[in-house]
Amino acid sequence: MDVRLTRAGNRMIGLAMMMLVSAVIGSVVVAAAKSPAKPATPEPPAAAPAAAAPTKTPLPTKYVVLTFDDGPDVEYTPKVLEILAKYDAKATFFEVGQNVQKHPELTKRIHDAGHSVENHTWTHADLRKLSATAFRQQVMSTDQAIRAQIGSTPGCLRPPYGGVSAAVRQRAKALGKDLVVWTVDSRDWTKPGTTAIVQRVMKNVHSGSVILMHDGGGNRSQTVAALPTILKSLKAQRYGFRTLTC
Ligand SMILES: [Zn+2]
Repeated sequence: MDVRLTRAGNRMIGLAMMMLVSAVIGSVVVAAAKSPAKPATPEPPAAAPAAAAPTKTPLPTKYVVLTFDDGPDVEYTPKVLEILAKYDAKATFFEVGQNVQKHPELTKRIHDAGHSVENHTWTHADLRKLSATAFRQQVMSTDQAIRAQIGSTPGCLRPPYGGVSAAVRQRAKALGKDLVVWTVDSRDWTKPGTTAIVQRVMKNVHSGSVILMHDGGGNRSQTVAALPTILKSLKAQRYGFRTLTC
């Protein structure tokens, strides 16, 4: 599949992509369902005094999983973090290793704020097109860069472009990764305007949805502008927020 065509909005390719996405939704559900047993942040946030009794907030039963891809980005990631904090929402960030290398402090900041940081390859490579060796390098170098900042290794791997094949599945499994795609694509990367981003999310969301947005990889000002309305609307519909751990 030529990804440039997808980026250009080719409908047929889009449909093919949806089918691919459907094919791996099973693992998404598994990953999301696992989160009650395994909180995203094993340690309490640094701000919480160690002696204080742990305040356990039960995980919401009606929930969405917010995911932000392609960062960290020096301009947009801090804005996304600020909005998430304002609405008390936790999210999962699928990061590109070479961006982590550029801005490791942002990866640490995301983790310290209680969000989940996961693997989105080193260069945003289409995993279907790689040799076994290149696949390993893409995934393991990203693991290493993230681990250096957060102290643990990502278990979730989001294949760029949602690109999954039998070989990708098998290689991911061999590295102990769960492949996680999404069920609702905000299509923010097409820059359709803030209203369109909000409407696409709110029209398609239901409990358990994994929502795809972007905090890096290009101009994300429309995503940043849409996010407060999305969060406000989700909260008005009594959605809570869960993070992914694999
Ligand atoms: Zn991506």
